[in-house]
Amino acid sequence: MASYPPIVRHQQYAYAHEWTYQNQKLWPPQCKGHSQSPIELPSKNAVKTYFSDLNFDSTVHTKNPIILTNSGHTVETRFANSSMHPTVSGGGLSGEYVLEGFHFHWPSEHKVPGHKFPLEGHFVFYAKKHQSIKNALKAKNGVAALGVFYKLQKGNNPAFAFLNNVENIAHRADEGIYSDFDVALADLLPIGSKFYRYYGSLTTPNCNEVVVWTVFMKPLHIGKQQFNQLRKIWDKHNKLLKFNNRQIQKLNGRKVYVGV
Ligand SMILES: [Zn+2]
Repeated sequence: MASYPPIVRHQQYAYAHEWTYQNQKLWPPQCKGHSQSPIELPSKNAVKTYFSDLNFDSTVHTKNPIILTNSGHTVETRFANSSMHPTVSGGGLSGEYVLEGFHFHWPSEHKVPGHKFPLEGHFVFYAKKHQSIKNALKAKNGVAALGVFYKLQKGNNPAFAFLNNVENIAHRADEGIYSDFDVALADLLPIGSKFYRYYGSLTTPNCNEVVVWTVFMKPLHIGKQQFNQLRKIWDKHNKLLKFNNRQIQKLNGRKVYVGV
């Protein structure tokens, strides 16, 4: 562990003023746009579409050290090794996207008809041609986000072992730690699952409308105890972060595509 470089906080999602999930009406004006996320995924009106498979590069299967950060809004996770950048392409995405990091929302932000899941993971990738998340957040389709639903199960899922370390940052927003448990992205993604596709936004301020969303239909599982570890984090006001899901946004005529 001692050989790791010091943790540098990424500030790409920073917003000058405090925002909370309790008062979403006070989020900045950009969050009142017409292509916002999350949405309720339609049961009947989704446009059936043929998508080629999503292609992940081989590092998606490699276990690597990660850094966990309590952002005050979620547990942010990224690979510790800065040269470790799993990529995704195909599946109707235009070009190659590079992983920035991933984080979680409880309960889920996206909804399938009439139903929410206890947990949703967001795997945030930026278009390689923009070279950084900072640039990608200003560009149409600059960000590709993969959404994964998780159901609760009795026993632990080894893929979530890294959540054992959340207690070390639970009460300290903005601090990062190296996890004792390495992560392979493929263990957290339902690779091969059919998915929904639509064009939307970040689900946190500044709600940039630059995101190509891929929401997998097939849920994975997390242990009940692991889910509770995640939910122990406190926000910046030293209060337990009981929920961190943005409300469902209007489609405003957007199409939602579903793979066949
Ligand atoms: Zn998210």
